[in-house]
Amino acid sequence: MDTDLATRLDEVDARIAGAARSVGRDPAELTRIVVTKFHPAALVRELHALGVRDVAENRQQEFTAKAVDVGDLDDLRWHFVGQLQTKKARAVRSVASAVHSVDRERVADALDAAGAERPPLDVFLQVNLTDDPARGGVEPSGLEHLAEHAASCQTLRVRGIMAVAPLGEPPASAFERLAGYAQRLRKVVPDATWMSAGMTADFAEAIAAGATHLRIGTAITGDRPDRG
Ligand SMILES: *Cc1c(COP(=O)(O)O)cnc(C)c1O
Repeated sequence: MDTDLATRLDEVDARIAGAARSVGRDPAELTRIVVTKFHPAALVRELHALGVRDVAENRQQEFTAKAVDVGDLDDLRWHFVGQLQTKKARAVRSVASAVHSVDRERVADALDAAGAERPPLDVFLQVNLTDDPARGGVEPSGLEHLAEHAASCQTLRVRGIMAVAPLGEPPASAFERLAGYAQRLRKVVPDATWMSAGMTADFAEAIAAGATHLRIGTAITGDRPDRG
């Protein structure tokens, strides 16, 4: 067992709890998801042994491969957080407990079509907080339309909003905008109360802005190995 991993996990959890209390929130409302991308499946196993139950990946192939590799750990919840191509939706759906990156109607449709015999899939609608369409996420002006569409998909449950803080802007102001988009989403889907925001560099600001699901990689896993 990697004792450094255990130490980092404890430290991050303590920082999360501190950040929550400092803004009057109960740390128990927060789901800490460990992003394991680029690390071997063995790391997922170690995390599981340390009590981690929520893990995330951002690429379908790695997502599928790792989930198969640790398929014996049947109480793990797999979160998909990367840009999703419609042709990969079926593979993602077969593993995912939640998809954080629904940003187009076609992605919602593809996930829905893959869900016929499955339990409902929790989805977050990803909003783009930058001016660069390549960053992923729906343009804020399209949020209500996407929300109505996704909510009409029988096998999807629209649970909340998601975003990645832009580079070159203080995360607090970006997440403040996100909180406004979360309110707009709740006007369309009243019980979509979740907010997926906050990574290694900005989880305290995300917690202050109302995040419920934190996606934390390097602060817990250590530096990502070279992709080779
Ligand atoms: C990699 C990744 C994270 C985690 O990033 P860290 O900075 O390592 O904490 C969170 N969200 C998404 C969408 C990612 O791709």
